[in-house]
Amino acid sequence: MLFLAAIAGLLIGSFLNVVIARVPAGRSLWSPGSACPACGAGIAWHDNIPILSFVALRGRCRACGTPIPWRYPIVEAVTAALFAAAWLTFGPTLHGVVAAVLLAALVAITVIDLERQIIPDVISLPGIVAGVLANLATGRVPWIDSVLGAVFGGAVFIVIMLAGSWWAGQQAMGGGDMKLAAMLGAFLGWKVLFLTIFLSAVGGGILSAILMTVGVRGRKDPIPFGPFLAAGGAIGLFWGERMVQWYLSGFAGS
Ligand SMILES: [Zn+2]
Repeated sequence: MLFLAAIAGLLIGSFLNVVIARVPAGRSLWSPGSACPACGAGIAWHDNIPILSFVALRGRCRACGTPIPWRYPIVEAVTAALFAAAWLTFGPTLHGVVAAVLLAALVAITVIDLERQIIPDVISLPGIVAGVLANLATGRVPWIDSVLGAVFGGAVFIVIMLAGSWWAGQQAMGGGDMKLAAMLGAFLGWKVLFLTIFLSAVGGGILSAILMTVGVRGRKDPIPFGPFLAAGGAIGLFWGERMVQWYLSGFAGS
């Protein structure tokens, strides 16, 4: 079953690669079929098998030889690993399915934000509704905690955006981060959301400091925050409830 969960992750990861390539451009996910962006040659099913085809083709288009980005096998492998982890953690439950859906959305959002510095509304806005409905169905998070999570997630980032434009005269965070935080709040509830925002702020701060020290990034270069929120959300999904309990019990025991 663990193997099947990983296979499902590979297939969904392959679909996420289509989402990542087409959704920001406003193109249809379903037609036309997959084609090489360089030469336009259609991609046969046997050249479209997750990871295996990339290896068999040595990372190049069969027709024109243009390199296929590493993003494709990486997204497939990461999604497979996350689905396997969701299976091990949550088992054959409805919450396990919800976890897989949230993780898939976070993978797509992370890569799109890294590549284009945007978080598509067509993922985050339905995600807010989906998070509340999922918790109504599973009872994992009380519905009021889920709704409060969505409201707090949006509100925290509205405050950060207003403070940023008032203090620095420039927008530190985008509206996409606000809607992603609201979506994570809806899925995880407000308690785990605050942990998620704390973890992503610390992680983002540390990595930004390292990148600026090394000189990869200047002070003015924007570093997208969405991937940090997404990573914090994944940590919150797997370990958030235990971490919040541990915190509320005064760090006692484990
Ligand atoms: Zn080609």
